[in-house]
Amino acid sequence: MSTTITLIPGDGIGPEVTEATRRVLDAAGAGFEYDVQPAGAEVAAAEGDPLPGRVLESIRRNRVALKGPVTTPVGKGFKSVNVRLRQELVLYANLRPVRTLPKVPHRFEGVDLVIVRENTEGLYSGLEHEVVPGVVESLKIITEVASTRIARFAFEHARREGRRRVTAVHKANIMKLSDGLFLKCAREVARRYPKIAYRELIVDNACMQLVLRPETFDVLLLENLYGDIVSDLCAGLVGGLGLVPGANIGSKVAIFEAVHGTAPDIAGDDLANPLAVIFSSIMMLRHLDQGGAATRIERAVHGVLSRAKVRTRDLGGTAKTSELTAHLVRLLRRGRAAAS
Ligand code: NAD
Repeated sequence: MSTTITLIPGDGIGPEVTEATRRVLDAAGAGFEYDVQPAGAEVAAAEGDPLPGRVLESIRRNRVALKGPVTTPVGKGFKSVNVRLRQELVLYANLRPVRTLPKVPHRFEGVDLVIVRENTEGLYSGLEHEVVPGVVESLKIITEVASTRIARFAFEHARREGRRRVTAVHKANIMKLSDGLFLKCAREVARRYPKIAYRELIVDNACMQLVLRPETFDVLLLENLYGDIVSDLCAGLVGGLGLVPGANIGSKVAIFEAVHGTAPDIAGDDLANPLAVIFSSIMMLRHLDQGGAATRIERAVHGVLSRAKVRTRDLGGTAKTSELTAHLVRLLRRGRAAAS
């Protein structure tokens, strides 16, 4: 019996890269049915809400979604669809593996780290108001429950994946109460995992160390804002946003999406790198215990990365999104035909 997943194409390059991923998943024999649920800027114009109830209902029903990026207006307009999804579905953990890939132009060797970002609170709680004209407040909410939950997730992930060290990233020298509580919870959880080393770094120092010695990092545990910023920094270490996947995980449902946004500068030009969403779909396949299809896609991607002609422009190649996708599909079909 096939599995139905929710597919949110998103805005900008979203429809291009999710369609590419869908073709690759089909060619790998994943056998999904797709419940396609548009959300985002155009949906806001047409339906009055960028995240209509039908999208949430579909995700709750299917428990797994693959999502393209969605526009968030800057300084005005509707609340982020991403933040809403994460809060309403309690997708408390944002997991983002960052690795140097063979044959991809990058500045650093041996990067193999995982970002574990708290996904539901912090400065993304959406609590902003004007105190008096000229003075505004944004509230940073840190709770013991959410901080302990994400620290446990980070250590459990480290244990399961055989990783050796968790680094909690903070600014508790300045935000003594909020980041202080985050650290207190992380320390308490760390005590229960004596085989996994634990250390703490102030976020500014962490950024510098990441750029100097990224290969020394293993699992990074961060509250929401730091996790968001450090994710893009880490993507830059391994070749850019076109390569870094992600998962938003809760106790009931999970949404798989790339770190990158809608890339309006290249949207509609067939230039976007679909690999970040394709890698996200590999995480999704493993979440659904479809390791075979995941490995087949992984092998095919490694195959194409070794040829500059088939790499997209962000990786120094000349291939269009559609050409890279067609190449992957061909490799996967050939592999399955040879195996049958
Ligand atoms: P962005 O990630 O869209 O783009 C940053 C830069 O990276 C651009 O130069 C872009 O061309 C490049 N890039 C990104 N993805 C790429 C890919 N797959 N292939 C090749 N190049 C790629 O960030 P931004 O410009 O700051 O944000 C644009 C919009 O996306 C904003 O509305 C923002 O709110 C939204 N956004 C959404 C998500 C999400 O839905 N999860 C995440 C981040 C940003």
